[in-house]
Amino acid sequence: MSSRAKIRLYVDHPLGAGQTVVLSRDQAHYLFGVMRLTQGAEVALFNGSDGEWTATVAEAGKRGGMMECKDQAAPQMMPPDLWLLFAPIKKARTDFIVEKAAEMGAAQIMPVQTDFTNAERIRQDRLQAHAVEAAEQCGGTYVPLVEDLQKLDRLLADWPEDRQLIFCDESLVGARAALEAAPEGDKWAILIGPEGGFSEKERARILALPFATAISLGPRILRADTAAVAALTLFQSTRGDW
Ligand code: SAH
Repeated sequence: MSSRAKIRLYVDHPLGAGQTVVLSRDQAHYLFGVMRLTQGAEVALFNGSDGEWTATVAEAGKRGGMMECKDQAAPQMMPPDLWLLFAPIKKARTDFIVEKAAEMGAAQIMPVQTDFTNAERIRQDRLQAHAVEAAEQCGGTYVPLVEDLQKLDRLLADWPEDRQLIFCDESLVGARAALEAAPEGDKWAILIGPEGGFSEKERARILALPFATAISLGPRILRADTAAVAALTLFQSTRGDW
């Protein structure tokens, strides 16, 4: 009986019936060294565009290997067109935000430098690897792109006007400012500030943007990582794909 393969692996390679996929050294190490798979074992592969495929191990080596795709086990599922903009915080909490954003179905993850952001740089490659791991783990067939750190004011200056910005504004703590107030749309972004919150200048500028809706995340001030998960939950359950 064929059931859905347990190990899921993201590959940057086209997938289709009969397609062979050459494994990287790291992937081979994981499958054959750590998970002890041998020839014929089944693995689920996805690449972010062709759905999930059941593949079998065709060659297993110490430094490499090859998979062969059999059948499509799940169709490609794209998340809503939602960007998560957040100000990077301490390393472990930033990792958490990226992991949770991938699980919660953000389409793109965009670290932004705000007035009160401490981080000067981020390890984009490491954060992207966290997003891949989260997608492998949560059964998603899509991996959100993690962009490099960019300045919030520059991003807002070039903002695509047809994208609604959900501004999570800590000055609205406890206020009645809900996501329902945002207009209809199919392109979205959520903005979460750093632990220090937004500066008055920044807040005034964002509030004046025609595509921004300021919302409250309830009567308590949440830490940035909690706020990111809360805002993603709120969005997905009301406007998104739940
Ligand atoms: N130091 C700030 C709080 C920052 S919390 C202060 O004391 O006011 C970090 C980020 O999480 C905020 O910038 C905001 O985007 C979001 N956030 C936290 N709690 C929130 C709430 N109740 N409503 C809206 N946004 C909130």
